This record gives sequence, C-alpha cells and structure tokens, in this order.
Amino acid sequence: MPVGTQGSVKGLSPADLRASGTQIILANTYHLMLRPGSKVIRDLGGLHRFMAWDRPVLTDSGGYQVLSLKGLVKVAEEGVEFRSHLDGALELLTPERAMEVQADLGSDIAVTLDHAVLLPLDPAAQREAGERTIRWTERSLRRARTLESPGGLGQLLFAIIQGGGSASLRKEMATRTAAFECDGFAIGGLSVGEEKRETWALARATAEALPVDWPRYLMGMGTPLDLLEGIACGIDLFDCVLPTRNARNGMAFSMDGPINIRNAEHTRSERPLDSECACEACALMSRAYLRHLHLAGEILAHRMLTLHNVTFYQTLMEAARRAIERGLYQQYAREFSERYRERGGDPPASA
Ligand SMILES: [Zn+2]
Repeated sequence: MPVGTQGSVKGLSPADLRASGTQIILANTYHLMLRPGSKVIRDLGGLHRFMAWDRPVLTDSGGYQVLSLKGLVKVAEEGVEFRSHLDGALELLTPERAMEVQADLGSDIAVTLDHAVLLPLDPAAQREAGERTIRWTERSLRRARTLESPGGLGQLLFAIIQGGGSASLRKEMATRTAAFECDGFAIGGLSVGEEKRETWALARATAEALPVDWPRYLMGMGTPLDLLEGIACGIDLFDCVLPTRNARNGMAFSMDGPINIRNAEHTRSERPLDSECACEACALMSRAYLRHLHLAGEILAHRMLTLHNVTFYQTLMEAARRAIERGLYQQYAREFSERYRERGGDPPASA
C-alpha cells in the first residue's frame, strides 16, 4: 500500500496510481481527523469520493502517528490524549473514536486502536501496553459493529497485535487477538528501535501464532528486501513511505539497486531509470532529463520518480505473487535479493 497520509499519495493522481498497478492505498486517520475533519469527509460522501479513488483504502487507527508526537502525548485507560500538531488543541483519541473516525472516512479496512510503544522498554511496561491493546481491541471492535460508513458500505476490521520486543509475549498477544471476531490482523510496533534480525524474529513469532488463512498486515515496513523477508514470514500486506519519500529526495529503486539521480554519472545518461520497468518515466525519459528536473527543483521530477518507485514496488509484489502461485517463492526471493544486494541495495537482513 502506497502511503496517502493526507488523502493523497504525494504527487500522484488516481490515474497515476492505477497505472502503477496499485490496488489499495493507506490513508492516515490522525491527519484526516484533524484536517479537514472526518465529518467533512463523511458529508462529502466518504474518502473514496473525496479523493476520486475507486479502489480499496485501508485507514490506520491513528495510534502510531500519535506516538510519534512524543512529548505531546498522555496514554490512559480511556485513550490517548494529545495536542494537535496543527493548532495545539487538546484531543482525546479513544478506541471508540478511532473507529468512529474511520467509519466517517468510509475506508474499506479499518484498524483497531493500539497502545504503541518504542523499544527498548522494560518488560513490565511492554506487558502493560500489550494488555491495554487487547482491551482496546475489544472496545474498538464492539464500537465498530454499531457504525455505518457513508453510503452504507461494509467495512472490514483488522485487529492490531502489539507485544513489544518479546517473542513469547507477541505469541501470547497474537493468540488472544485471534480469538476476537475480526477480518484480519495488523502486526504493529516493529522497527521501533530494535535490531533488524530481532524485527524478523518477532514478526515470524507473531505470524506463526495467527490463523493461516487470514490476511496479515505488517505495519510501516519496509525496503524491497524487507518485503521479500516479510512475505516469507507469511505477511500479505505492507505499507511504507520509502518509495514516495525517497523519490522526493532523488532516490529511485531499480532491479540493480538504488539510484541517486543527483549523481554526476547520470548527466548525459540516455538510459531509463530501470530498463525492466513499465512506468511512464522509464518508457519516455532518460536519467539525464530526470536528473536535470530534480536539480532544477521541477515538480515533475517528484511525480515521475514517485510514479517509478511505486510501480517498482507493485511490480516486485506482483512477481512475488506469481512465484508463490508457481511454488517458486524461495527461488524468486533468493535470486532477487542476490542481484539487488550485489549492486548496492539493502544491507543483508542480519547486518
Ligand atoms: Zn519506472
């Protein structure tokens, strides 16, 4: 899922998103509830109509965005109290309100409110956040079942699993969360300060404790190699800002590893960003032109690099799906990783 924080995947129109092969996007509950406000979006027919996007949308519950405000947040049993980053107004996000906002937005998949924590953290505090997340999951689901989205569209409900940096606590939380009546599971609170090797051990422990035939969504990760590692752990859905944020910084993903379009070596290069990519930028534009656009601060550079990076991610996932269907996933992941790493892509997962 490309990330559409403000109801927009920065720089891309709905037509661009469709051309990239995107099937579903993520929108941020926290940002949209503060501006323009979820009631405004409900009154205008819901988020799909508001942003002219007729494919699925998943909304997060706002818990992680609130956590990232750091000093401005107080967590109590009732909910999370925080100050708006826009005008400083005091806001209370309860499990019930998180679901009400998401119902107003009319997303296809809504996510329960969790108590997210950063690592390292002492075991008692990790347990407390995990237990609170279970109680909040129950409250979120109970409230969500009484709500209706704009146009009466049905909403799928994903429950978030926390459990900090302990594999046994995560397993327990996953098992207890799986007992709730919901439509899928979101694995939260990873890549929040722990080592990457640890991240995958925790993701695997969580995924293994979940029912096999339900969708699992790993929140907020990752690089191309993270996606392949996650898929091997049984993850189905991802969201990450890397393809869009890096594009704006002049970094393009390619089968041969990342490209920094600012580098002088591209000054006269007539090559596309990636000769295997089907996006508009790769079909029509040279690296030399894209480099020029980027250095000149032209917004077309942002749009084209974003379109390319999102297309690259969707192509990677499409190829992974095909490999799984043919029973060749491990081979696909190994070959991709070796080629990508060799040319300076992500460091090995154990680094
Ligand atoms: Zn491309």
